[in-house]
Amino acid sequence: MLFGRTIKNPIKISDKGALEWKYATCGYCSTGCSIEVGLNKEGVAVASRGVADANVNQGKLCLKGIFEHELFDSSGRGLRPKMREQWHQPWENSDWDSALDKVHDEIVRIQKKHGPDSFAIISTGQMLTEEFYTLGKLTRGLIGTNNYDGNTTLCMASAVSGYKRSFCSDGPPGCYDDFEHTDCLIAWGSNLPEQHPIIYWRMKEAQEKRGFPLIVVDPRVTMLAQNAHMHLPITPGTDVVLMNAMMHVILAEGLQDQRYIDANTTGFEALQAEVEKYDPTTAAKICGIDEDRIRVVARLFANAGAAMQIWTMGINQSTHGSDGVVGINNLALLSGNIGKPGGTSLSITGQCNAMGTREWSSCSGLPNYRYLENPQDRQEVAKAWNVDPEFFPKKRGMFQTDIYHAMESGQIKGLWLIATNPLSSLPNSSRVRKAMQGLEFCAVQDCYEDTESAQYAHVYLPAGTWAEKEGVMTNTERRINLVNPISTCPGEARPDLWIFNRMAERFNLDKKVSFPEKAADIFLEMGALSKGRLADISGMTHALIEKNRGIQWPYTDAQLQAGEVPPAGGKRLYTEDGSFRYANGKAKLIPLPFIDNNEVPDEKFPIWLNTGRLIEHWHGRTKTGKIGNNNKYSPIPFIEINPDLAAELGVQAGEYVRMVSRRSDAVAMAQLTQRVPKNMVFLPFHFHDCANRLTLGLLDPHSRQPAYKQSAIRIERIEDQQAAARLSMEMRTF
Ligand code: SF4
Repeated sequence: MLFGRTIKNPIKISDKGALEWKYATCGYCSTGCSIEVGLNKEGVAVASRGVADANVNQGKLCLKGIFEHELFDSSGRGLRPKMREQWHQPWENSDWDSALDKVHDEIVRIQKKHGPDSFAIISTGQMLTEEFYTLGKLTRGLIGTNNYDGNTTLCMASAVSGYKRSFCSDGPPGCYDDFEHTDCLIAWGSNLPEQHPIIYWRMKEAQEKRGFPLIVVDPRVTMLAQNAHMHLPITPGTDVVLMNAMMHVILAEGLQDQRYIDANTTGFEALQAEVEKYDPTTAAKICGIDEDRIRVVARLFANAGAAMQIWTMGINQSTHGSDGVVGINNLALLSGNIGKPGGTSLSITGQCNAMGTREWSSCSGLPNYRYLENPQDRQEVAKAWNVDPEFFPKKRGMFQTDIYHAMESGQIKGLWLIATNPLSSLPNSSRVRKAMQGLEFCAVQDCYEDTESAQYAHVYLPAGTWAEKEGVMTNTERRINLVNPISTCPGEARPDLWIFNRMAERFNLDKKVSFPEKAADIFLEMGALSKGRLADISGMTHALIEKNRGIQWPYTDAQLQAGEVPPAGGKRLYTEDGSFRYANGKAKLIPLPFIDNNEVPDEKFPIWLNTGRLIEHWHGRTKTGKIGNNNKYSPIPFIEINPDLAAELGVQAGEYVRMVSRRSDAVAMAQLTQRVPKNMVFLPFHFHDCANRLTLGLLDPHSRQPAYKQSAIRIERIEDQQAAARLSMEMRTF
């Protein structure tokens, strides 16, 4: 008997008529895949493909990248500037001069009346780095509000804060190539196959070759956990306890790398005294991981020749997010696993250019990881920009999450939102809605005019999207890659850089500060400001970046002159003893006492609500909700619910349920699965007016990042399923 097909019919890929292919970098996640978009004879984008000789993705793309060319003519694009006196009035079409004048005049009016910091500016991780840099120059150098931040506070602030506390600088020290060298991988709260599919493919290929153990710490049986050697289903919010217990075992059994510790760290004794309290027997009762399992994992990790840790939002989005990152760094430092092939602590970043905003936006400080608190940093940037150093604040202002609280209390009166949609992305959305309604003035700059947040704007500025613009982005492994303008902005929409430069003209009447028009020239200005710093990019140009399909920083002018070919020097940070950024060259081991300050389930709200991402969607679905091939896989909100819990509640598979938290309620379809335990449901956060109606979003004390993943809810069966279905359909639309 013959099995399988005797005649093979290869899948036919229809000819889309692409005649020319243009190079860019994917604009969704931080993996940083090199992508080419095919244009037909009319110059219309008709196809996308991976770039075969790109180190990152080697020709592959995930579901989002494959359909990225469909973004250009997706519905809801803003085609003209618009204005209105009150947010509840209908929009009126306007022109660029009138709209920009209005935004300028309102910023000046509010700052004069209520003080410079009463006007806030919030940007994103979605723009290009030259745009971030220009907005930073405009905001810090001319407008002068200190309440300027990005939506990256919602995804990467804990990683930034943790790196700064441990190493005195942001900047992930490892790279994807580390998968090829590691002997042990721990993934903390990271579901690579869905969140970063191409990094997962890199990891999986390396793992199949090398056979290293993969240990996944996650309360849910994620796709990555299904592929792991060990899955540690931790009690939400208790990662620090598990980390301390692992360090307890490592030190009790003398498994630490004492030479590395002595040469490269301070604080060993204090850390030792703290972790002494976290014996595995006690820790197991808090974090829910069996005490012997804790010992086994600690030994596997410490005894590996090279051990690697990665993490994503499962660590960052917690009231202990920054501590969790420091705990990962502590483990890496104790075992000498920083800066060596296969030995690293690598935060897997969220948005495509969250790294670019960390490096160059001046949100949390000044360009290239300079601190507002450091007088020399202020002097250097003031000189480069030709502004008065005294104009800079002496310390950073509010984080994004605090800005909304200040809007509620009336401290912030005006807001300029750029490529971000807080009504969808911030926790406890009913509070955010009220805060936005109370503003004296709000401008929204976005490539889409139909975002939830635009409902409360007085001026709408239509911007370009992704590859309608030119500039660079930095990926998770510090690789800077180029986006070319493949399509033009529709209607009267303009690239964000053009909008910032036109706005700068209104604040820069004496032309004291220079605002170059071309992204390539801005990049050279940034290169000059980076010389001698950790993130030195002075050897790079746009042309060299495209030629190499991305270059990891640092890559210096001296390396370029010496003929060193990229990635010379840029693969890993902290490769030598004493190369950390604290003045003594050492990293800090920091004790982490655990305080259980999350919202936890109780009698009234007995279920953990865990939120996260799906492979086919991106954030609030502003983009992927409009691309048929992405949207059709997950068109409506659903929850993963354990069959035992569903049976107890009398809920059948495919029925709609009502979730209730102390904040509000939301409706989703029940999908029965053993991936979640009986006391937890998982709800994708992508859908309009759903997950963030429920979340509390307590803030991490260091990073001010919200704890999206630890809320308490109850679940109710809905009698009127037809009404629930109608409501659910409303949540899929914007
Ligand atoms: Fe784009 Fe990320 Fe998918 Fe790569 S993995 S194609 S960067 S969304």
